[in-house]
Amino acid sequence: MAIDKPHWRELFSEVVTSGSCTGCAACVIVCPHDVLDYDDKNGAYKPFHLDIDGGKADCTHGEKGCTLCTRACPRFRNWESEIDIRKFERDRTDEEIFGIGDVLLARSSDPFHVENGQDGGFVSSLLIYALENDIIDAALVSGLEGDGATWQTEPRVVTTRDQVIETAGSRYTYSANLLAYASAVENGAERIALVGMGCMASAPGAMQARKAGKVARRLSLTIGLLCSKTFDDKIFEELFEAQYGLKRADIKKINIKGVFQIWTHDGNYHEVPLKEGHVFTREGCKQCPDFAAEHADISTGGIGDFGDWTLVIVRTEQGRELMEAMKRDGVIETRPGDDDPGAVALLHRLARVSRKRWPETANPGPRRLPVTSA
Ligand SMILES: Cc1cc2nc3c(=O)[nH]c(=O)nc-3n(C[C@H](O)[C@H](O)[C@H](O)COP(=O)(O)OP(=O)(O)OC[C@H]3O[C@@H](n4cnc5c(N)ncnc54)[C@H](O)[C@@H]3O)c2cc1C
Ligand code: SF4
Ligand code: SF4
Repeated sequence: MAIDKPHWRELFSEVVTSGSCTGCAACVIVCPHDVLDYDDKNGAYKPFHLDIDGGKADCTHGEKGCTLCTRACPRFRNWESEIDIRKFERDRTDEEIFGIGDVLLARSSDPFHVENGQDGGFVSSLLIYALENDIIDAALVSGLEGDGATWQTEPRVVTTRDQVIETAGSRYTYSANLLAYASAVENGAERIALVGMGCMASAPGAMQARKAGKVARRLSLTIGLLCSKTFDDKIFEELFEAQYGLKRADIKKINIKGVFQIWTHDGNYHEVPLKEGHVFTREGCKQCPDFAAEHADISTGGIGDFGDWTLVIVRTEQGRELMEAMKRDGVIETRPGDDDPGAVALLHRLARVSRKRWPETANPGPRRLPVTSA
């Protein structure tokens, strides 16, 4: 009987060209032969095989037995269940529509981070705490190029409080934060936190479930960001500027709360209907079933009535210990998720909506939950 050793050839046909590739870059960073690269030009956000060693659709190293790219991919075959079992030691139940974990609200105890962060500065406080208490050596996050005026995202490594502060806030275009991994390792990091949306937050779990070597070990903490979609970069010119006169360089902060909320450097505030943005949905998000970053250790989001609190889902023992330590040391404040029942209901609803996007022709895992009921 032939042994199934899927490699780039299978990843290319089953994920990259089928529409379920999110562009998370996990395959690129684990490739031990450096034959994969990443195209982030013109909204592509896709891995590609260099035109050597097998060409675009095949890989001679794969033919000889290398399977690392498929072992890292958080959309390959039975990914969801494999990662659930590795991380939580069980499959999820039908009720666990947003994944396994407990919901609460949290925010930084430091008003500076509440103000500087996107929704409560919880992620910033967590990263600073983990860096300054010898829990991690570095974190992979998203920054903006140059002085930020272009709103072009770039994956970054942060190792200090100031770098965390500089990279706080949300950008709603894609940033494949895993691409900063090599730079973190070059600088000696062994315990690396990853901040990312569901597509990226499932990558460390996929690597750990399928034993993808050193990278799997080094990605030791995963902080997820709730996410319905990201947008093509052209949304800036073709919607915000063309329809509302808002130039990239004038925009100070963007949030999404049912509408695009846009603050400009001149102190003004603008709203753009969210439905006008839908046509700019990034290709890699269209089949994504994971709203709630279901394989993170701790997932975070901004839904709910309390604008300056982060909705937090604590999923793993490691996440629970970190939350306890931060509370004990006065770094964060928390309150029960039940304080905002509307947020919890919306979390269920948005998770359900995302699940319906997973194609019926793909591995049935993410569709097996009752996605059609209200
Ligand atoms: C693309 C995107 C879509 C989102 N959609 C939703 C949503 O639909 N509903 C919801 O409740 N929450 C959503 N969030 C999460 C929300 O915006 C906040 O990130 C979250 O509530 C944490 O807030 P905070 O104040 O604790 O984070 P902060 O302390 O401000 O830290 C935020 C962290 O996110 C990183 N980051 C910023 N932009 C990106 C990016 N594009 N890619 C990867 N990392 C990034 C930053 O580098 C920083 O480390 C989304 C976030 C992003 C990036
Ligand atoms: S989803 Fe991520 S790991 Fe899978 S093929 Fe796409 S970029 Fe590679
Ligand atoms: S919707 Fe969010 S989590 Fe899903 S692929 Fe897009 S960016 Fe990733």
